Amino acid sequence: MVLGKNIVIYDLDDTLYNKTEYFADILDTVMAEALVYDLGLDMDVEKAKKLVTESYKIYRDGGEIFYQNYNIKPKDLFIAYHKRKPVEKIVPYDNLLEKIEKVPAEQYVFTASDRYASEKILKHLGLYEFFKNRYYSVEDFGVYKKNENANVYKEFCKKINAKPEDCVFVDDSYSNLEFAKEAGMTTVRIYYHNNSTKDKTFIDYAYKGIESFLEDVLKGKAS
Ligand SMILES: [Mg+2]
Repeated sequence: MVLGKNIVIYDLDDTLYNKTEYFADILDTVMAEALVYDLGLDMDVEKAKKLVTESYKIYRDGGEIFYQNYNIKPKDLFIAYHKRKPVEKIVPYDNLLEKIEKVPAEQYVFTASDRYASEKILKHLGLYEFFKNRYYSVEDFGVYKKNENANVYKEFCKKINAKPEDCVFVDDSYSNLEFAKEAGMTTVRIYYHNNSTKDKTFIDYAYKGIESFLEDVLKGKAS
């Protein structure tokens, strides 16, 4: 068991690999390039990048300003952005697979990346074989985000034939955890600098990086 539950579901991006400011900055550039070069946004890449960064700050979604004001469709950006995602620049954790293999629970991945990018990322992290038939993209549920409502978490549970009450959801993004909690799951927030969400009642546990969470799980401190 993990935190009294028999299923653990992980977010992928910035949860199963380390989020660095360097990588976040690259991703903002990549999103701006997708907007300008692939979707024909009439703006230079530098200005688009500034808006992407601003959009993340305000909405926790780099595309939101463009959906609202520049006639960009979420689906188009979702596809173009993931095609350009520089997966090879991600630095995987050492021995993550070994640790995950020892976790005493059924484990899944549920990601807001598309299937194309999530397969590439899982392969890059050395986790693809382990999660091969156990990873799902928001795409599989006909949506592009997992921070809009609790339905997608309920649908996810149906797909894996589980009850939300039996699941622990692990994510760096607290806006996702709000809806995982609403669906009935136990929530674990992964943070990097400070635990900035102590006041959020929908977060049950918080760990600095996935490795510290797994360490407690493997030591039986989070069983
Ligand atoms: Mg994430």
